[in-house]
Amino acid sequence: MLTPRIEMNLEKIAHNAKTLKDLYSSKGIDVIGVTKVVCGNPYIANVLVKSGINILADSRIENIRKMRNASVQAQFLLLRTPCLSQTETVVKYADMSLNTELAVIKRLSKFAVDRDRSHKIILMVELGDLREGLMPSDLDDTVKQVLELENIELIGIGTNLACFGGVKPDDEKMGCLTSIAIDIEDKFGLKLEIVSGGNSANYDWFTSTKDVGRVNNLRLGESIYLGCETLNRKPIPGLYTDSFTLVSEVIESKIKPSVPYGVICQNAFGNVHEFKDRGSIQRAILGVGLQDVLVSGLSPRIDIEILGASSDHIIVDTKDIDVNVGDELEFDLNYGALLSAMTSPYVNKVSSDRVNAHEYCEKVEQKYRRHLQLLPTISIKENNSPLISLKESGFNLIFEPSIKKDYKYIVREAVFDKVGRISKRLDGENKTLIIRSVWRSFEHQRLLWEDRVDSLKKKYPKRQMAEIEELVSYFIAPPSKSMHSTGGAVDALIYDLKNDCVMRFGTNDGLKINLNDKCYPYHPYITPEAKKNRKLLIGLFEEEDFVVDIKEYWHFDYGNSAWAIEKGKDHAIYGIIEA
Ligand SMILES: *Cc1c(COP(=O)(O)O)cnc(C)c1O
Repeated sequence: MLTPRIEMNLEKIAHNAKTLKDLYSSKGIDVIGVTKVVCGNPYIANVLVKSGINILADSRIENIRKMRNASVQAQFLLLRTPCLSQTETVVKYADMSLNTELAVIKRLSKFAVDRDRSHKIILMVELGDLREGLMPSDLDDTVKQVLELENIELIGIGTNLACFGGVKPDDEKMGCLTSIAIDIEDKFGLKLEIVSGGNSANYDWFTSTKDVGRVNNLRLGESIYLGCETLNRKPIPGLYTDSFTLVSEVIESKIKPSVPYGVICQNAFGNVHEFKDRGSIQRAILGVGLQDVLVSGLSPRIDIEILGASSDHIIVDTKDIDVNVGDELEFDLNYGALLSAMTSPYVNKVSSDRVNAHEYCEKVEQKYRRHLQLLPTISIKENNSPLISLKESGFNLIFEPSIKKDYKYIVREAVFDKVGRISKRLDGENKTLIIRSVWRSFEHQRLLWEDRVDSLKKKYPKRQMAEIEELVSYFIAPPSKSMHSTGGAVDALIYDLKNDCVMRFGTNDGLKINLNDKCYPYHPYITPEAKKNRKLLIGLFEEEDFVVDIKEYWHFDYGNSAWAIEKGKDHAIYGIIEA
């Protein structure tokens, strides 16, 4: 896999989001999911939504547009006071925004009227952190004017602490916000739907307070992603702190001195460093640097030490750990490192299901290579059972048209009976087994091979023949090696009579199958529906003592060498029948 990359464990993020949502809701506080540190990554946004979070917030309208265009099913809140120049876009993509400037809200109103929609606003109140917020003394006047604006709906007030000034959200500050809320409600005879008390820094206040007052909302980013509160960066019990991993690659590993030698001046960043002499050390260089990530926010997962970094390199002392060129090293990230890595175009963003898929495919290919070595070693005690045609069986079956003229769909006797029982079982579910291919002569196998070679030659006219053949061999065996010439192999799919279509297995469009690694039977990166359908298909055949192919979810073997290997038998009972 490409490096540098950031691996996002979606299961852990989902766990953290759910746990925090449950925790805060125990005292009536609703959670808004903040996506700015992950740049509105749609995979993560969908995880938050699936975890029960209905409103997503981001400081950038670009990120909100990205999530909308990815059809993330949430309401969107713009966190940063809108730029006057962006108000039209804000009305277009965001349902609501945090605001502090009347001039901006007036523009929002104008564009909301133009677009004939309503835009919701939350007024931010300054409580001492000295970033955004109206001074409490100006609030009444602003509310009064906001209420007069067309197509603007005042849904709440909020505050933000612990960001610029590092001011702690405590009972005093939250009490203050509560009084302000009550005051406005009384004065203007309205109900504030949202009183938003802050961010991940509110955790300590929440866990220790006896009364949350009117505060009924928090906007959470860091605690969901990194599992900690943000006043002292203490881990929150029950949360994962390692949902994100930065993976880098070693590009040089050598024993060198620990102190630079020569006349020392400024380095690339205008600094003059002091170095401690520890003699010669094992130094590794990683192919990742300050253009990729805020290096000071990284912590290695193993016992090595970051000595420093430049734009494109991190230099580490690998201490007692043996590190070779090509090795991957993993790091935890703090908020700044996460933000920079997610923002850098050089860092690949990889979600856990893709990591799992990659690992799964590597395992399958390893197993396949081992399998190919074992195949010729399997002895065959041919039981000479005859080949019979499924076509004249009378079972409910659909036969996929074959490239071979007058194809008879013949199988060994025992396989014939097994297919019959599977067909019966499907009858009860309003489904029919589709037989794609069974016994094939060498000539038939050659036809398939040549057909595939022809189509790939057309697709890749510049490639060498050897390369094309390798691609073909990926899914089609050469004639003398195919399990299909034993009469023990069955290629099958299922037809759904109720919906009148071939069931979806993840790589097929009707009967047409795209040959790629998602054909591996247990590929994790297919839809839940495809997984369920594969389970049904594979289950039916396994119950009849077939084994599913290593790479093809539709191919099943019984009695032949592939079956013998998978089942750990000391011999196969069906050899090749050439006829
Ligand atoms: C970033 C931000 C948040 C979320 O802060 P975390 O510390 O990541 O929970 C909440 N509100 C506003 C206004 C923000 O800018």
